[in-house]
This record gives sequence, structure tokens and C-alpha cells, in this order.
Amino acid sequence: MSKSPNLSRRTLVQGMGALPLAAALGSSLASGPVRALNRSKVIVIGAGLSGLNAALLLEEQGVDVQVLEGRQRVGGRVLSHRDVPGNPESGGTSFGAGYARVMDACKKFKVGTIDVTPIVPFFNDRELVLDGKLIPKAEWPTSPLNPFPAAFKQSMPWSYLNPIIGKNNPLKNADAWLDPANAKYDVSLQQWLSSIGVSDEIIDLCWNNNPNHGTTAYDVSAMLALSASTFAMMQAQLGGKIFGYTAVGGNQAIPEAMAKGLKKPILFGRNVTGIRSTKSGTEIQCADGTVYKADYVVCSLPSPVLRRVHLDPLVTGPQGLAINTLASQPVNMLHLIVKKPFWEDDGRNPNIFSNGLAGMVVAERKGKTPQEITSLTIWVRGRNATWMDTLESKEAVAAIMDDFYRIRPAARGKVEAKVYHSWYRDQFSAGDWAVWAPGQVTACAAVVGKPHARIHFCGEHTAVSNRGMEGAMESGERAAFEILGLV
Ligand SMILES: Cc1cc2nc3c(=O)[nH]c(=O)nc-3n(C[C@H](O)[C@H](O)[C@H](O)COP(=O)(O)OP(=O)(O)OC[C@H]3O[C@@H](n4cnc5c(N)ncnc54)[C@H](O)[C@@H]3O)c2cc1C
Repeated sequence: MSKSPNLSRRTLVQGMGALPLAAALGSSLASGPVRALNRSKVIVIGAGLSGLNAALLLEEQGVDVQVLEGRQRVGGRVLSHRDVPGNPESGGTSFGAGYARVMDACKKFKVGTIDVTPIVPFFNDRELVLDGKLIPKAEWPTSPLNPFPAAFKQSMPWSYLNPIIGKNNPLKNADAWLDPANAKYDVSLQQWLSSIGVSDEIIDLCWNNNPNHGTTAYDVSAMLALSASTFAMMQAQLGGKIFGYTAVGGNQAIPEAMAKGLKKPILFGRNVTGIRSTKSGTEIQCADGTVYKADYVVCSLPSPVLRRVHLDPLVTGPQGLAINTLASQPVNMLHLIVKKPFWEDDGRNPNIFSNGLAGMVVAERKGKTPQEITSLTIWVRGRNATWMDTLESKEAVAAIMDDFYRIRPAARGKVEAKVYHSWYRDQFSAGDWAVWAPGQVTACAAVVGKPHARIHFCGEHTAVSNRGMEGAMESGERAAFEILGLV
């Protein structure tokens, strides 16, 4: 990955003086000649869900908007693989019936939805593999590796912790995680779980293998796990009997349809490297040397990406802390095409939870019936993803497949590794969803999305009441409203 220019940013920006941003950055960052292009009222940086929602709302109110996108596609962290049967997802996987903005976008832009409730029981049923050995469900309650209290010996590791977090969760509403009165929960998840009596062995088994947030329970704030639990609970209430949905053609169909709804075409391949705000407007510098001008900017870049962008004036104080330190979840996805149903040979469920490299294997059921398996996805998370990110893709895939074949010998020769995606190694994401570290929520979460000079920030990491795809939509809406109050 390209090296972050953070160390020299302050010196560089101080030295820029009155030079246009393009000239100040051009010699070191631009590969071609610098051109000042058309001026827009608002430039939106990033065509993920948050940026697209902001752009559409602004356009609806008659504002002239130009979207700049670094990649050659829309959707950002929503990515569907149309070259794998069933269009499995490497990003945003499903959305709840209570995702009001996402559901509205599907309706408005005519994207079909698929109720995933019938496949949930299949998803929750997995083989347990610890230290390379398959432990049949019947043997788990008496296994020496089972750390659960006597009354819970039947519980499986992937379903034990969430109900405990939910039952002990002190956060009762969606934005309670930002309430200073709850600051005492901004400690490590490890510390909070220990305080409610969960043993280290249980935390290690149930969280540190395949963590939702962080690499272990030590490096994530309990506040994040608690707020995610509150969000899940509220979604379950809103959804009623419906667990959630995916989009027909893959979830990427949603941002694609939203992008088609824009009046002005998106400019792709515009890797933004600098944003300067002055009294009269903004200048946006791209790596290819192009420069765009606007009155205001909506910036949807995740923090690990944004800290590589030269901001003038600098963002300082708690908001600067958030931009410069907020991490994103390490997650790598490997999609396998099934040539022969190997699970019929070994008589086991294709789904796996393990404490090895192939940490979570999911049989995708995106066919006509819930019984039909269309492909397999291996989720590599936390410490394992960080380890794999030290390797080139080819080596990482070989290592993950080795582990998979070791724990599932019947699969050898019957699957093909088709697509691998490391979100950390992806320069336009540098990780997955935001991970607030212990102490970081109270230090800077409330200000991460505040406007700075002429920049209005959005992106799921700036959402207050929602998470994931709906959080992204919420944040884009907020940024658009801020600007509508100004224009
Ligand atoms: C594996 C995985 C599973 C997930 N599962 C779920 C789920 O089940 N449910 C759920 O709700 N959410 C889920 N999410 C999260 C959800 O997908 C994201 O929160 C959401 O899509 C983020 O949208 P965003 O607009 O904030 O950011 P992004 O989608 O990252 O948008 C930012 C955009 O900015 C562009 N960009 C970046 N840098 C630059 C630059 N320098 N110049 C120009 N453009 C740039 C990017 O290319 C991107 O298009 C999942 C994500 C992943 C990866």
C-alpha cells in the first residue's frame, strides 16, 4: 500500500502559503499537468451509499452537484461479485426491514429485495473446528475445550456471547453511546465482559476468533459492541418476523441504481489527494492532476483513507484525533465456486466456525430455494486478517485454502478459489467498518462528523443512530441537510 503522507502534512501545508493547492501539491503528487475544471456548487467525494445519498438529496433541492469517485465503480464497501453464482457479497451483506433509508432507496430506484429470513436457520448451524479438530455437536458439551458454565454447556461459541451482551447492555437507545453519562463503558470490551463475569477463556473462544470489531476484545471499546447490540435489538423489533433483505442482483444494485438517478454523471478514477477551503470556496486536487472547484465539499472518506488526504486548513483537536487515529475493521473475504458438493461426501454441514485461518465458512444460499448452495464464502477476520494482509493475495489465498483443506479434506479438488478481497489492502477503504478503541468514543466520536471549514463529513463512521449501510445513508442525509442550511 502507498505510504501515508501524514508525517509531512503539517510542514507541507504550512509551506504552501498563498499558492493554489494544485500547485503546492502538484509537483509531488500529480502525475500530469494541473487543470482547473468546472466549478460546482457542491462536490461530493466518494460514490458509496453515504456520498450518493447526500448527492441525490442535494440535487433534489436544485443544488448543482458533482460526485468524484476514486474507483471505476460505485458502491464503495458494498461490493457484489457477479462472476460468482448467486452474486455473493464482499461488503454490505444484508439490511434490516428497519433500514428505512435503504428500503426507501430500493423502492424509489426500483431495486428488488429478497427476504433472507428462510436462510437464517441454515446460517446459524455450523460445524465447530478447534485447533484443527472437528468437534461433533453431540461431543461439545463434554469437550475439555468447552469453557461455558454448567447450565450453558450446550451453547455453541458463535451464539453464546451476543445474548449476554444484550442482556447486560446498559444502552437503551440508538444514540446513548454518545451520551457523556455512559462514558464509563468506553473501556475495553475485555474489561467490561470481565466485569459482568465472563471468563477470559470464553472471551477468547467467542470473541477473539472471528471478532465483529477489533482484533481482540482488548482493542475495541465496549461502547462500540454495546451500541451495535442496541442497534441489532432495535432492528429485530422493527423487522418483526423478517430478519432482513438482500437486493436482487446483489446489494451493489442499490448504489448502482442510486447513481443512475443522479443528473450529472459521476467522474470516476478521481483519487482525491487534497482539499483546500478558503473564504471564497474550495479546491479539490486529484492524483491525476485535475482540480475541481466548489462552494462546499461533502467528504465521505473513511478515516484511514482521509488521513492520507492533505486538508488545508488542518483538522485539529478531537476531530483531528479521530481522523488520524480511528481504525477500520480488518476483514478479508474469499469466495469459492463449488464444483462438487463435498459435504455430501463427508456428511457434514458446509458451514464452519473455527479458531484457525479459515475462521468462518458460510454456504451462500442465493438460489431458488434455501436448500440450494450457490457458493462458499470464507470470512477471515481480526488477527488472521491482519496476518493475511502481510502477504500478497496469491500467498494469502494459498494459506487460507491450506487451512480449509486441512479442516475439510473432502473439499480438496471440489472447490475453486475465485475472488479474494482484502478491505485493508484496498486503497479506497483501508479496512472495513470503523472500530472505536477504548477511550476513543469519549475523546472524539461526537465530533468526527462536524463540518470543518467548507467540508461536510459523512460516511458510516460519522453516523449517530444507525450502523452499516443505514448508518452511511443517515450520515449522507445529515451532511446534505447541513449544506442546504447554507446555500
Ligand atoms: C465484509 C463486509 C460486510 C458488511 N456487512 C454489512 C451488513 O450486513 N449490513 C450493513 O448494514 N452493513 C454492512 N457492512 C458495512 C457497509 O457496507 C458500510 O458501512 C457502508 O457501505 C459504508 O458506506 P460509506 O458510504 O460510508 O463508505 P464507502 O462505501 O467506503 O464509500 C466511500 C467512497 O469513497 C471512495 N473513495 C475513497 N477514497 C477516495 C479518494 N481518495 N478519492 C475519491 N474517492 C474515494 C470509495 O471508493 C468509496 O466509493 C459490511 C461491510 C463489509 C466490508
